Amino acid sequence: MTASPPPDPPPANLLALVPEAARAAVSAWVNARGLPAYRTGQIVRRLWVAPVAQWADATELPATLRAELERDFPLGRLAADTERLSSDGTRKYLWRLADGEAIESVLIPSGARRTLCISSQAGCALGCSFCATGRMGFRRNLSVFEIAAQVREIVLRHPEEKPTNVVFMGMGEPLLNWPAVDATLTILNSPEGFGVGARHITVSTVGILPGMAEFAKRPEQFRLAISLHAPTSAQRRTIMPVEKKYDLAQVVEAARAFDRRVTFEYVMIAGVNDRDADADELVRLARRLRALVNILPLHPGGGGDLVPTTADRIRAFAERLRNQGVEASVRRSRGLDINAACGQLRVEVEGRRRRSGHAVGKVAAGEERPQILKGA
Ligand code: SAH
Ligand code: SF4
Repeated sequence: MTASPPPDPPPANLLALVPEAARAAVSAWVNARGLPAYRTGQIVRRLWVAPVAQWADATELPATLRAELERDFPLGRLAADTERLSSDGTRKYLWRLADGEAIESVLIPSGARRTLCISSQAGCALGCSFCATGRMGFRRNLSVFEIAAQVREIVLRHPEEKPTNVVFMGMGEPLLNWPAVDATLTILNSPEGFGVGARHITVSTVGILPGMAEFAKRPEQFRLAISLHAPTSAQRRTIMPVEKKYDLAQVVEAARAFDRRVTFEYVMIAGVNDRDADADELVRLARRLRALVNILPLHPGGGGDLVPTTADRIRAFAERLRNQGVEASVRRSRGLDINAACGQLRVEVEGRRRRSGHAVGKVAAGEERPQILKGA
């Protein structure tokens, strides 16, 4: 009786693994083929450090090896539905995922710094009243591959624009997708991954307590930003439904336990949270944590009939914080002309297609639409 050969293993997505696990898988594969051990390092380097779009491009490897890698470890891509360049240099991407979902990333240059804002979920369940992503509701969690690929795609498309900083401030609540975000943090930070310093990686959350506890266990100096947006529980409730589940006092306590300096994000909404009394309440909270306050002008079009606070009023509010010893910065509203705020590009693009009668939804993975650039 002749034994049938073992079945071929299915292709594995190395880009869904943390670098250490990818190295182990590649090393076993290299050993099984009797290849010299140095091939492992050459292959792993092409995942994140010097990424290739396909194995054929890794020309330092023999052609037969590249063909085998393509068969056993095909490299996944994200299809760009839309890419836009704003007049201020901000670049915004709408990625179409294999199942038709769309997510956003925004690259914001500032001097020598290039900050990439990435999404962790398609949509969001938390329904903050000012947020376009919240309005579309929750679609699904992103996989490790889909989160980390947002960085990889930027490097593949514009190698000179490799992000120096990464913030989880795109679509979704990262701490409600902790296992995937946890692994992605490792890929971002590892020297065999993208090698972005932990201090240059920020997770932004409304304050999901179990997720905050998990995040706090990571030994690296990752940064935490709390989306506070209101200085009292009663006010916060009116714009952030999550306040009913995890209230302001608990969130501030959890941030205190974090043992690292945190940032409060504060979107300025006229008549809702921008009075002198609100500034004074915010001072009390910020002082307790020695938190930095990052003031964000409300991006119009996020949702509802909320009105942005005027620039003068924002300046006065920030000044009032600083006069009481709180470090406050006002974020410039970047990419306004390309709808570069959380969820707004997807809402706009899909709205436009719906109006013009185009089907929204399934687009084959790998399908590339023409780039829409500045002024489109
Ligand atoms: N869910 C997480 C991370 C994604 S939202 C969180 O809420 O922290 C990232 C940031 O975008 C948050 O600080 C959020 O308040 C801000 N944001 C959402 N909609 C906005 C809008 N219309 N104008 C300005 N900032 C907005
Ligand atoms: Fe979700 Fe953050 Fe938007 Fe709130 S602000 S709806 S938590 S993405």
